[in-house]
Amino acid sequence: HFTFRIFSPIHTTFAANIQCMQQLILSQGRTKSILNRHPWLFSGGVHQCKASEGEMVAVTKHNGELMGYGFYSTGSQIACRMFEWTLTEKPVETPAYWKAKLEEAIELRNKLIDQTNTNCFRLIHAEGDNFPGLIIDKYNDVLVIQPLTKGMEQLMPMISDLLLELGFPYQYLKVKQSSAQLERVSLSTGWLKEEHDILIEVVEHGIRFNIDVESGQKTGFFIDQRENRNIVKTYSKNKAVLNAFSYTGGFSLYALAGGAHRVHSVDISKQAIELANELVDLNFKNAPHTGVVADCFDYLGDMPDDFYDIIILDPPAFAKNKRAVANASRGYKQINLKAMRKIKKGGLLFTFSCSGNITKDLFQKIVFGAAADAHRHVRIVEQLHQPADHPINIYHPESEYLKGLLLYVE
Ligand code: SAH
Repeated sequence: HFTFRIFSPIHTTFAANIQCMQQLILSQGRTKSILNRHPWLFSGGVHQCKASEGEMVAVTKHNGELMGYGFYSTGSQIACRMFEWTLTEKPVETPAYWKAKLEEAIELRNKLIDQTNTNCFRLIHAEGDNFPGLIIDKYNDVLVIQPLTKGMEQLMPMISDLLLELGFPYQYLKVKQSSAQLERVSLSTGWLKEEHDILIEVVEHGIRFNIDVESGQKTGFFIDQRENRNIVKTYSKNKAVLNAFSYTGGFSLYALAGGAHRVHSVDISKQAIELANELVDLNFKNAPHTGVVADCFDYLGDMPDDFYDIIILDPPAFAKNKRAVANASRGYKQINLKAMRKIKKGGLLFTFSCSGNITKDLFQKIVFGAAADAHRHVRIVEQLHQPADHPINIYHPESEYLKGLLLYVE
């Protein structure tokens, strides 16, 4: 439940006599980012706010006029994460308001995701769905919920009740302990309403996966590569395929489904490779697949020349923050250079970056640098990106994080 407070007596141009939430008053002339509907309000733009960490606030101009609502954060550079832009009051603290928002997100998926052969997709993509700091992934009939901010954490009991009302009894709350925003977490990982087996069977474009939501990376699976995996399938017939940074072999299974005659999955995690091998057996009989536990930087350097027709490079986010961009760029260049040097003539290189801090342009420049050093003729044949269930809020270009290039290497 939210605590309702009386408006501060100085700024009472609206709702003066009703009980209401805390106000965040903007500094004079600092309305631009809100007028542009950017969901992040930086601390420099705040004149006054007495709310506590994660509390819902009404954001007003310096003269007290309402501009919208957000979650306040005391310690962060991002002082407020906006979720509603409005000049008139809205009942943003009510379950009905959040239910409508959840229904909108569900509607987008029902319209845009073909669910006949896929029961695994992202239901809530944080700012991309105007739910700042909240991730919800759907694995068959289980939802994995990851609140990334204190504000969303406080909303969890209400969101959980609403999800139950909307027909989702199996909810696994996965609290990310490393998130600085959640330093003072009060929730713990586990089932919220009904319990379910921790291993969940899903299908994605007809391919079967077992997801371990407890010990798997992210919420258990890299759902965001679904459509790119399907593209790999279309090009794989009779090809030798290297899936570098394979995790549990997502791209490998699609390559096998597409008729590849040899597929190698390489990952530094032994557990991931073991699961990849199991998933291959679950989907195919005697598939030409080998899982290798290795560091891909070494593997790509040591592998033979002219062996692979298709190479997939899907490393983890090398640039976790802005300061890491230079080092990350070198990492991306190295792996791309190694792959381009060795790939067969006329080979296809699927290369990705999921670092939000590496822009699409920068990534292309890095790959261009690798191509030049490899002395190969390289052409971009497709631009790859995140799928429809990871929508990019047009006012928040930062929510575009996954980018990739399909290269034809001669
Ligand atoms: N393509 C995968 C997701 C890859 S996530 C999919 O579709 O599901 C990135 C993976 O890189 C993780 O599994 C991580 O274990 C692995 N990884 C990180 N550093 C590595 C390294 N140096 N060498 C090999 N694998 C690495």
